[in-house]
Amino acid sequence: MQHRIVVLGAGYVGAIAAGRLAKRLHREDVAITLVNAEPDFVERVRMHQLATGQDLKPRPFSEMFAGTGVELRLAKVTGVDVDRKTVAVIDANGAEELTYDTLVYALGSGWNAQGVPGTAEHAYEIAGRPGALRLRERLARLDAGQTVVVVGGGLTGLEAATEIAEARPDLSVALAARGGLGDWLSPKGREHLRKVFGKLGITAHEHAAVTGVAADRVATADGTAIPAAVAVWTTGFAVHPIAKVTALEVTDTGQIVVDGTMRSVSHPDVYAVGDAAMVMGPGDKPLRMSCASGIPTAWQAADAIAARLTGAKLPNVSIRYFNQCISLGRKEGLIQYVTADDRAVRAVLTGRLAALYKELICKGAAWSVANPRLGLPTRRHRVTQEQAAAGSAVEATA
Ligand SMILES: Cc1cc2nc3c(=O)[nH]c(=O)nc-3n(C[C@H](O)[C@H](O)[C@H](O)COP(=O)(O)OP(=O)(O)OC[C@H]3O[C@@H](n4cnc5c(N)ncnc54)[C@H](O)[C@@H]3O)c2cc1C
Repeated sequence: MQHRIVVLGAGYVGAIAAGRLAKRLHREDVAITLVNAEPDFVERVRMHQLATGQDLKPRPFSEMFAGTGVELRLAKVTGVDVDRKTVAVIDANGAEELTYDTLVYALGSGWNAQGVPGTAEHAYEIAGRPGALRLRERLARLDAGQTVVVVGGGLTGLEAATEIAEARPDLSVALAARGGLGDWLSPKGREHLRKVFGKLGITAHEHAAVTGVAADRVATADGTAIPAAVAVWTTGFAVHPIAKVTALEVTDTGQIVVDGTMRSVSHPDVYAVGDAAMVMGPGDKPLRMSCASGIPTAWQAADAIAARLTGAKLPNVSIRYFNQCISLGRKEGLIQYVTADDRAVRAVLTGRLAALYKELICKGAAWSVANPRLGLPTRRHRVTQEQAAAGSAVEATA
């Protein structure tokens, strides 16, 4: 009997986990199914580029996973029953139930309106393809001089504001940040950011917590109204709601709580990775939702599942940060080097070199998804019946 591994979500993290599992485990022993709603891989880290009219390379999963041993299932996940070990999916042919022995949950996240009044009706977002395409269409219809306000001074907000200002120098672009502009960066990083904002003519509204969005403005906590023909909402991500309505142990925000091997602390046959998982990183700080830390969670989960099924040693790699790579339009960038737990150190890389570095990082991440069998040497181990049956009980010492 084959051990059935079902991976939910083929974003960066789920797709990489599925490919790595296929590389680690013998084809005759496992059936790996990757479930995703869309037929193409979406490069989420480039959604600000898509929104500003750039065309992204189509990346159909059918080509990426051809011959890998991963079966692709194009369907929408509507529910998970962790007690019966089933996943409810729906596609054009109707509803169906998939049964798993091991589940990898990687449904990722979307935008987080944080319940701010008016966001659902008036704000635009770039957390996924549909939102980015809607903004793209709206930006294309804006006349010269109209104002775009990006709400949120985090990495996505900085990338969105600079990308829009560079692509549409005829627009008036502003950014509203709850704190100071780039206040978590090193002094050199902040200085560079201000320089680029100045060059691109972006107005920074600092210490401006946005409390409401209307059709033509955003309101801030101190009562200021900032004119906005378009408000782009980028204040963090919210995880997919499915996990929260299962019996899995989740955080208040719906992230699945996992141990160091990405295994659910409540259900040992479930693993969670990427944005969907609450993973403690260095310094006992939760990893932030990002590809930078999400991709290593995919490696960790795949290696741990393979180890448990084959009786090999469990991986014992701690996930850490090295840098924050921020694009500031196509010609400028900022690489902020950080400590293992993501705190800025003095060193930065700026300018065109930084833009090129960031571009290589984005290309590398997409390449890892598109070439699930390349990169690392293939080491396919046989699953032993006892270990597959015992599943969670098998623990090799690290
Ligand atoms: C504009 C932007 C820029 C970013 N830049 C960076 C960056 O520079 N560096 C960085 O580290 N991170 C960056 N991020 C964050 C990064 O993109 C996410 O953290 C990362 O994509 C999370 O990967 P994931 O695989 O966990 O989830 P996702 O990428 O969200 O993938 C989830 C997958 O599940 C699928 N799915 C969801 N629901 C269902 C369902 N019900 N049924 C079936 N399939 C479903 C989705 O279609 C998708 O394929 C950026 C994000 C954005 C929006």
